[in-house]
Amino acid sequence: MKRSAAEIKVTGIVQGVGFRPHVYRLANKLGLAGWIINTTNGVTIRVEGRAKDIKGFVRELQTSPPPLAYIESLRTKKIQPEGYSAFFIQKSSQSLDADISIPPDVGTCPDCLKEYNDPNNRRYGYPFTNCVNCGPRFSIIRASPYDRKNTSMNVFRMCADCAGEYEDPANRRFHAEPNACPTCGPQLLLTLPDGRAYNGDIRALLKAGKILAVKGIGAYHLACDAKNDKAVRLLRKRKKRQTKPFALMCRDLDVVRKNCELSLKEEELLTSPARPILLLKKRQTSMLCDEIAPGLDTLGVMLPYTPLHYGLFDDDISILVMTSANISGDPLIITEREAYSKLGFLADFFVVNKREIVNRADDSVVMSFMDMPYFIRRARGYVPQGIHLPCKVDPIFAAGGDLKGTFAYASDKKAVISQYFGDLGNLENFEAFKEGVRFFGEFLQIKPQSVACDIHPGYISTRFASAYAKELSVPLIKVQHHKAHFASAMADNALNESVLGVICDGTGYGEDGTIWGCEVFHGNYQEIKRVGSLESFLQPRGDEIIKYPLQMASVLLYSLWKDEDKVMRVLPGCKRLLPFVKAQVGSKTLCIESSSCGRLFDAAAAICGFTAMVSYEGEAAMRLESLAHYSPEVEPYSYSIHEGSIMRLSWGFLSEMADDKLQGTEASILAARFHTTFINALAEMVSKLAVKYKTDKVVFSGGTFQNRFVIKRLAERLKAMDIMPYFHRQVPTNDSGLALGQLMIAANR
Ligand code: ZN
Ligand code: ZN
Ligand code: FE
Repeated sequence: MKRSAAEIKVTGIVQGVGFRPHVYRLANKLGLAGWIINTTNGVTIRVEGRAKDIKGFVRELQTSPPPLAYIESLRTKKIQPEGYSAFFIQKSSQSLDADISIPPDVGTCPDCLKEYNDPNNRRYGYPFTNCVNCGPRFSIIRASPYDRKNTSMNVFRMCADCAGEYEDPANRRFHAEPNACPTCGPQLLLTLPDGRAYNGDIRALLKAGKILAVKGIGAYHLACDAKNDKAVRLLRKRKKRQTKPFALMCRDLDVVRKNCELSLKEEELLTSPARPILLLKKRQTSMLCDEIAPGLDTLGVMLPYTPLHYGLFDDDISILVMTSANISGDPLIITEREAYSKLGFLADFFVVNKREIVNRADDSVVMSFMDMPYFIRRARGYVPQGIHLPCKVDPIFAAGGDLKGTFAYASDKKAVISQYFGDLGNLENFEAFKEGVRFFGEFLQIKPQSVACDIHPGYISTRFASAYAKELSVPLIKVQHHKAHFASAMADNALNESVLGVICDGTGYGEDGTIWGCEVFHGNYQEIKRVGSLESFLQPRGDEIIKYPLQMASVLLYSLWKDEDKVMRVLPGCKRLLPFVKAQVGSKTLCIESSSCGRLFDAAAAICGFTAMVSYEGEAAMRLESLAHYSPEVEPYSYSIHEGSIMRLSWGFLSEMADDKLQGTEASILAARFHTTFINALAEMVSKLAVKYKTDKVVFSGGTFQNRFVIKRLAERLKAMDIMPYFHRQVPTNDSGLALGQLMIAANR
């Protein structure tokens, strides 16, 4: 038989994902000899044997790689056979392995779940079962390279059975760093709030309506039976969380389907290795109480993602509330010490274990849009997966914004975005953010040559960036908030040319000292010009106004009409406010000029009847959207667009909306008309500018585009006009996507 040989170089996500054992098994199956080795940018394989088998080997590698692998390129070269008699895995040197990127945490794979449920398996019922295809990763890594000794599993010594699996190239647990079993791994412990062990059954406690603090992959959760209204209400009361929706964990897909509408794409996302919280449309027939997500037409749902979670369910428990176990606004709780001291009053029992969480990571929140994941919060399961950049950049750090703390490191054609740290205005969140910067900086070994941040002088992230730049002796580059959004959406869609961009959000510091928040730009990473905007209005100064939609509506309607009685008829309940409002309107000291989209939506929500104080960010707009979904097909109000050096969209249609309300029109119709007007007006403005600037590409970014009603219809409308809309794909459209845009602009300056 004539022997052939080939050298195959593969790049992509091929390390830490079971690629080598996969190749080993494949080579053995086809009777090929040779070896495989990890290299700095992928793997190199050498195979010898029959030409036909080598061909088959390459084909199968391409068509069915291991589940978590992603092959970016595969090059084959014919070489001289060297006469190997078997296939083996070559040890790679430390320095070579150092380049491995940090893998994200992975939800339990079907093989491990099977073992967990098999009474004859040695891992039957073991909550920490994992393998090379699943288990904790990012959350347990302390240092580079990703090796057991550098993870928090290092304190558990593998038993002979586990070590055998770990060493065996043919085994699914070959180099599965967190490998563990009931004999040698961490154990589940049920305790009372004072830390004493409690001899009881977790599921029985849940059934009895108890609230449990459960240590998971990236943080603690608070869990209770979602079908027990009393338990849900108690959890709200104890957590002092008024109306912010709770996330749910469902036992299986059937349970999800019973409560939510679920498309095939959504099903795919729910069961994907990242196991995110998915925003789904709640079924009207769902028996779950409104208290889970007050006033909203969606539920945030996830599936179990560690065997520990599977163990929380049985025939009677099918849905749990699973909310992050932090005191509202504080960082996620990850240690037992903190859990007992801070959650003692919140949880009745604690489910803990000795596997230390090194890097905290919230559950990710996504929705399905245009059959793609669309991020609200990018954390567990996705972080720290890299993002490919459309152009090369020198090593750089970007500090992001304050409200949704996230930073980014980038170099060459890759950016790594941190997990979400929450509002940096909270000192503890800022501490966690700094800890994250230190960890990523060391792990990625990127020495920034410049630092980027927002232009807002009061931002904590700006001050941090300035200190960091000083420490590194590198330039600090400040990037305007909405321009960063624009560049972020461009990079997220691999665009590297001049395009249009529409950025709509709540608050951002404008270049002219006013507040921006509904802006149209034209340009690229080097040069961005503001070409359109919402006509500005006066908004009361200070951050407090975001909590008071009623006040915002009063200010806008009063400045339109100057008619107290009429404002009061539209907004019963604003009487008390009117004296202040009258003083504010027209006073440059009490008000600031603003083109904030968020405040416009707040005002519209108040006109539709949501006049309460907002208890979480974006609540008014989310309730307005939920209302609109009940009346999808409506006539818009009339609107006007003023052309000039900057095209201005008038918000005067709020007046017609208010009149509509005085006619007795239903709130859901008002909400839908408001949405439709906004969508049509934006689309018209975009189409005019597209002609003017000779482009058919428009990117969209900013928190407003979390609104499903807006993005779906806007995308359809623009496509009908032969304009290609680009929404975010890998980073959130809200402020936690800012860092990506900041670094793109700063790196191209
Ligand atoms: Zn597994
Ligand atoms: Zn073991
Ligand atoms: Fe923003």
